[in-house]
Amino acid sequence: MKEKPAAMDSSPNITSLISDFITLLQTSGKSREVFEHVGPSHSEEDMFSYLWSLQEAHQSLTPTPVSAKKSQDIAESWLERGEKELFQGNLEEALESYSLSILFAPHPPLPGGPGGSDVDRLDCPDRNNNFDILIADEGKEEGRRRTYRDFDLLARGYGGRSAVLFEAGHYRKCILDIDAASNYSADESHREPLAERRAKCLARLKAEEENGKIPAKKKLAKLSDSAGSEAPELPDPHPAIPALGKVVRMAFAPSQGRYLIAGRDIGPGETVCVEKSYCSALHAQHLLTHCCVCLLRSLTPLPCPFCTAVIFCSEACRTEGLAGCHWQECNILPTLVNLDMGANSLLAYRIITHTSYATLKDLLLVLKSEECTKPPETIGFDEDGMYISSSYRPVYHLVTNRKQRPPTDLLRRCIQAFVITKLLLESGRYFVKDDSGAFDPTLDDIVLVGSALVHHMMNLLCNAYAIGGR
Ligand SMILES: [Zn+2]
Ligand SMILES: [Zn+2]
Repeated sequence: MKEKPAAMDSSPNITSLISDFITLLQTSGKSREVFEHVGPSHSEEDMFSYLWSLQEAHQSLTPTPVSAKKSQDIAESWLERGEKELFQGNLEEALESYSLSILFAPHPPLPGGPGGSDVDRLDCPDRNNNFDILIADEGKEEGRRRTYRDFDLLARGYGGRSAVLFEAGHYRKCILDIDAASNYSADESHREPLAERRAKCLARLKAEEENGKIPAKKKLAKLSDSAGSEAPELPDPHPAIPALGKVVRMAFAPSQGRYLIAGRDIGPGETVCVEKSYCSALHAQHLLTHCCVCLLRSLTPLPCPFCTAVIFCSEACRTEGLAGCHWQECNILPTLVNLDMGANSLLAYRIITHTSYATLKDLLLVLKSEECTKPPETIGFDEDGMYISSSYRPVYHLVTNRKQRPPTDLLRRCIQAFVITKLLLESGRYFVKDDSGAFDPTLDDIVLVGSALVHHMMNLLCNAYAIGGR
């Protein structure tokens, strides 16, 4: 979708907040004092605590909440646009318009999901992976529909998109949208044409299968979802660093830190590293084109039931996202995006929420003491001598270059951490205990998390990797 992220609006971004902060500091005569507390010789805790203690910081650096709410009017206008584009045969534009209509249309909470009811979870087919079940389970279809029939605008969006997909020859995807349309439609008269289209899709799929025919070349083929590829097998893994092959060796030099060297000649195409990222986040400009869980591009996205800031590629990703990473960010992501602090702030937010407050509280003191006590070449390795990519330890111990940074750069990292901490508090979904839900964090809790964020705003600049693609 070409639309800018739904969250972007005219509320102040980070540059404007910083400008207000500087003005307030000048007015109160504290411009100098700031750099007595923020500089390379100060710890992350000291710098963050000082900033958090400043009334001027709270006054100027508290972000204005931005919402990305559903909108009947916007959904209707995209629906009309979709109908027009479809009538004119512009399938690509029609598909985008209907997807935007689905994104903005008011949506019921998902059964069994956050904010949902106790209704049993629908037997939802996975939109990408279980097409054959769709066809085999035709008789059960009636039972899995008929749950929310008062979301007609949503139903019309799915119905319109199914017409585009039918025209383009994407029959399996078409059936999924028809089923969604039937599920949310209150209007009996809409269901008849949908049922006819569904029957035609099944007939064409059956004919293709029986005749062993290669499906006709589909229109919109270039818009097909990007395929997730299986990770390659890593031959001969390193005994202490399972993500690397044995062929690679880690070395250390005081001037360069840790680095890898090849133990022998490595041939072209030889696999030497297979590593799942600890955490990932989309660049803001891809939030409406790529799934916020698996990061794949999606041709027929599913919406978040609560916001218009992200999309999901499948029911599986939507379930996973709403139970984890997206649920934690759903009510503050539009504000975070609007601040325009760059991809690292989105990633830092996800690292902190993925790690959880409880883990951070348990681990942070240990990790900080390791920084001072362990030989530098062993930093990031656990007590068993293993370097585990899924653990927070190696992520925390990535180099920050704090001592080489000028005070103005450090102040900027502290300000970014300050703003993200404000959003963690605002979300009400981070400072939680398993047994008793959300709690009011103490000043120590806030400084613990804020200083970890300062740390990540520095180490991500030196260590985060971006992947570009369609
Ligand atoms: Zn996905
Ligand atoms: Zn959301």
